[in-house]
Formats: sequence, C-alpha cells, structure tokens
Amino acid sequence: MKQNKRQAALARADVLKARIDRYLEIRSEIPKGLERRIENDARQAEIMALCGADRKQWNDWRWQLKHRVRTAEDLSRFLSLSPRERETISAVERVYRFAISPYYLSLIDPEDPDDAIRRQAVPSGYELDDLEGEDDPMAEEMTNPAGCVTRRYPDRLILNITNECAMYCRHCQRRRNIGSVDRIATERQIAESIAYVRDHPEIRDVLVTGGDPFTMATARLERIIAALRAIPTVEIIRIGTRTPVTMPQRITPALCNMLAKYHPIYVNTHFNHPQEVTAEAAKACALLAGAGIPLGNQAVLLNGVNNDPYVMRCLNQELLKIRVRPYYLFHAKTVKGTSHFKTSFDDGLEIMEHLRGYTSGLAIPYYIVNAPGGKGKTPLLPQYVVEKAPDHLTIRTWENAVIRIPDAPTKRIGKAKLTE
Ligand SMILES: *Cc1c(COP(=O)(O)O)cnc(C)c1O
Repeated sequence: MKQNKRQAALARADVLKARIDRYLEIRSEIPKGLERRIENDARQAEIMALCGADRKQWNDWRWQLKHRVRTAEDLSRFLSLSPRERETISAVERVYRFAISPYYLSLIDPEDPDDAIRRQAVPSGYELDDLEGEDDPMAEEMTNPAGCVTRRYPDRLILNITNECAMYCRHCQRRRNIGSVDRIATERQIAESIAYVRDHPEIRDVLVTGGDPFTMATARLERIIAALRAIPTVEIIRIGTRTPVTMPQRITPALCNMLAKYHPIYVNTHFNHPQEVTAEAAKACALLAGAGIPLGNQAVLLNGVNNDPYVMRCLNQELLKIRVRPYYLFHAKTVKGTSHFKTSFDDGLEIMEHLRGYTSGLAIPYYIVNAPGGKGKTPLLPQYVVEKAPDHLTIRTWENAVIRIPDAPTKRIGKAKLTE
C-alpha cells in the first residue's frame, strides 16, 4: 500500500515537471540582467569611454543624472541610428520628454532592434501617430483636493513631489504631469499637501511619488518624510521609485539610513523585464531590504516588451531572487502617445493563467485595470469559479480540473460579523 502511494507520487512528480519543461527551455533564451553581467560590464566600459568618465563617476548618481542622454544627436553617439530614426526621435523629443541615464542605456543590446529596454527608453514614431490616447484618462485632475495630493481612496493618497525621473519611460502613464522642464513641487504645495494629510486623520497611508522622489536630494526628501512621520495618524509611508531599475547608483547607504529613521517605510519599484534585473539592481535592492524596507514591484503590461507568459514568469522569479515581491501588473491605459504599448485583456489574463500553480504564489502579482475616470484599481483574474450555487461551488484548478465542493451558510459562533 505504502509502496503504491510512493509510486503514484513519483508518477505525479513527473507530470508536474512536464508542465514546466517548455518554460525551462524557453527561459534559457530570455535575456536576463543577472546573466548578462559580462556583456553589461563591457558595454558600460564602452559608454564610460565615450563620456570620458571613470568608474567612480559612473557609480555616482549625480553624475548619472547630469549625463542623461537627452537628444537624438547625443543618442547616436551610443547607438547606431538611421537618419530616419534620428529624425523621428528629434520630432518626438519636441513633444514628449526624453532622457535616459547612461546606466539604463548600457542595458540596451545595440544589436537587437526589438530590445525590451530600448522599447521603454528610446522614442518611437508611434508616439506621434497616436490618435486614440487621452491626456488624462484617469481624471487625476479631478482628484486633486490640495497641493500635490491625488486622492482616489478612503484611507490613502498620493503626493506627487517632483516631475523628474532618471529615465522617461516611453509608456509613462503620467505624461501629462511630466511636462518639459524639471519641476519639484513648491514648498507651498508641499506644505499644503502635508497640512491636508494632517487635517484628514482617516489617511493612514501616504504614497510619495512623482516623477521619481529619489531624483531629489536626500536632505530635501527627508524634510518631506519627516513631516509626514510627525503626523500621528500616518501609519505607513510608501515611496514609488524606478531608480533601482533605471539608476541603481541612487540607492546609497546614506539614503537607506535616512529612510530607516522613519519606518515603517515601503518602497515600490517598476521592473518590466528580466533584462533589467542586473547585478547593480540587485545591489540597490539589497541595500533597501537591508535597511528593513519591504520591496514591491509594479510592472506595466507592455506590448512588445513583456506581454508574454514566459517573460512575465521569468521576470517575477528574477525579482524574488533580489528580494522584490511582485505587487501589481498594470494593464496599460490609453494615455496619449503610449497606445502602441497597449495589449488586449486576453494577453494579461493569459499571463495570470500561466502563473498560478506554475510558480510560487509569491511570484504572482495582482493584474489591475484602472477603471476609467479615476474610479480605482480593479483586479482581473482568470475565471476559477465555474459555478456558485447555494449548496456548492464548482471550481477550476490551475490544471483545468473542474471540481465541485459542497458549501453551506456559515453557522456563526460568538459575536455577529462586525460588518453586519
Ligand atoms: C494606486 C494608488 C494608490 C495606492 O493603491 P494601493 O492599491 O493601495 O497600492 C493610492 N492612491 C492613488 C490615487 C492611486 O492611484
């Protein structure tokens, strides 16, 4: 009997392994930052030489920020661009902001026109051809009660404290805020925003974002965080930043020591592709995690970048290796100039279908669509409930087994439910 069970378990293990055979094969072909260390180092040396910079400058985030590539002409020093590409980039750069940190630029494989980093960072003609996108599909302007606050929920809100980023994502969903010049919220706007939080004690969670708050000087950022922490009703402070991906040099021990004074602090970042999960990104995340900061990832589902179940599974597994917990996978909105990145909902649901069961629950983000008009984040899930009846529930498992489970109303013990 025992022997039979063991044999069944062995046969089952073979079936389970076979479920990911194809993935394991394909995964080895997906470019991964941690595996591209030698190529990345060589490319960095090349870019440093072209900039006349040394390793010490390269590792200094202020150098990275100051030497962002901002024009087609500048970009053509590092990537071979056809005259047409140069023209397109120049045309786009007059409409939408363009800048790439030398570090993020170094992650582009110059030989690959479909490179996932290039798609996110280098302007394309699609941006100007977009007739479909809207300027403000989230109606964020309707949800700005004070200063630089965006409030769309009962107990939490966003502070947009700067419009500057280390790299301007071509798929940016807040393009409207990014404008054409660097703009840190004024002292008055910040004071007004902090006063709003203080006057609204139901706000227990403040999300500091932008732009990218980590483009600001540490001392300036500290004044804002300290002021928020001084409000007794603020329980948690969250920071949204893409610098671990686009400028990991920014994550210094000094920054982490500052943040650690104001715990509980959470950081959410924005990796979209396994190629971004590099040794440098790993180091930045290790510093943040070492300072006791839980790290989450908010990816965006992007056509031509990551709308593939295996790329996404690989991304989320690479993230767990560097202690970043996948949090959200956002369905791309119809923001003007970004419509070419939009995918169908089928793409997103297929990705979710290929995560649950196939990999760690920790590697599975929520797939979120932002309801139009700023009506809030709404999770989307493949259908696992086949039928809900008073006396049973029929479910579909990750392997597509359909199973009926008996159900009955709860026989309450103790106090009634508080929500009733
Ligand atoms: C996304 C968002 C938040 C945070 O949402 P969570 O689901 O709690 O991560 C808060 N306020 C606004 C306006 C947002 O857009």
